Amino acid sequence: MKDFEVRHVSRKGFAVYNASTNKRESGFYSGRALAACYCDTLNREKKEQAARSKRKCMCCGTPFLSEGIHNRLCRNCGHSGLGKDMIEPCTPQT
Ligand SMILES: [Zn+2]
Repeated sequence: MKDFEVRHVSRKGFAVYNASTNKRESGFYSGRALAACYCDTLNREKKEQAARSKRKCMCCGTPFLSEGIHNRLCRNCGHSGLGKDMIEPCTPQT
């Protein structure tokens, strides 16, 4: 189920609504496509936010705020590049 959806409001146009709260999240657009574009953005952001969670770094075990399922390394390991190839294990942070 989508969190946000495009609805048509008579004489005003198309707007993006939060499906669960019925709250309008955008201004009124003259075309459905314009509203749908903004709607997609909101749905994507919501999905990305939900995917973000605290994980343990695959490399050093430090808990960190992951940006998504693809993000399994903490900032330290991700930036050092060591985690990518796992050539050398990095030192766990204490
Ligand atoms: Zn790490």
